[in-house]
Amino acid sequence: MNPWGRGARDGVLTPRPMSDTIAENKVVKLQYVLTDAQGTEIDKSHPDHPLLYLHGAQNIVPGLERQLAGKAVGDVVKAVVPAAEGYGEKRGFKDVRLNRSQFPADAHLAPGMRFMSQGQNGQMFPLYVKKVQGPTVIVTPEHPLAGVELHFTCTILEIRDATEEELQHGHAHGPHGHGHGHGDEGDDEDDHGHAH
Ligand SMILES: [Zn+2]
Repeated sequence: MNPWGRGARDGVLTPRPMSDTIAENKVVKLQYVLTDAQGTEIDKSHPDHPLLYLHGAQNIVPGLERQLAGKAVGDVVKAVVPAAEGYGEKRGFKDVRLNRSQFPADAHLAPGMRFMSQGQNGQMFPLYVKKVQGPTVIVTPEHPLAGVELHFTCTILEIRDATEEELQHGHAHGPHGHGHGHGDEGDDEDDHGHAH
C-alpha cells in the first residue's frame, strides 16, 4: 500500500498524513458491489460516484459498518452480513393492495420503489412496490432485502476525519456525499459538486 495516499501524482510525492484506519467519526469513501448468497448482483456503487459515509453514524447497515472497522485505504473487504445485521429478517407482513389512483399521476411505479405512507396516528412508514397489475398496485411494508444475506465486496479509497458539521448532521458531506436537502425528500442532490 502507498503510505503517501492519493497525493502521489506525476512522480511528485505530496506528503499526506497516513490516514489510519476506519473508526468512529471517520468519513470513508469506498466502492462496493453487493450480491446475494448465490452471487446475483443486487447493487453497486457507480464507478464515478463512490459511496461516502460517516462511520459510526448508522449510515450503512450495521453488519457492514462493523466489518469495515479497522480497515485501511487500499483494503478490499469481503463482508458477509446476515439479514439480521442487514435489512432485518422477514417479518411476514401481508401484502397491501392499493389503487393506482392513490398514487401521484406522474409516479413511475416499479417493483422495489419506496414511498412513504402515513399511519392512523400520523406516523410515517415506508411501503415498497412489489407488483403493478393494471389499476392495482401491490405493496408491502417489508424491505425488499429483508431476509437476504448480503455479500459485499468493498474497496476502501479514502479515510479522513469528519468535519464538525458532518458530525452534527450525522452523515458525510462533499462530492458524492449527502446533499443538502435536509429534512425533506427530493432535493438532496444539490450539493453534488465535483472536485476532481
Ligand atoms: Zn448535512
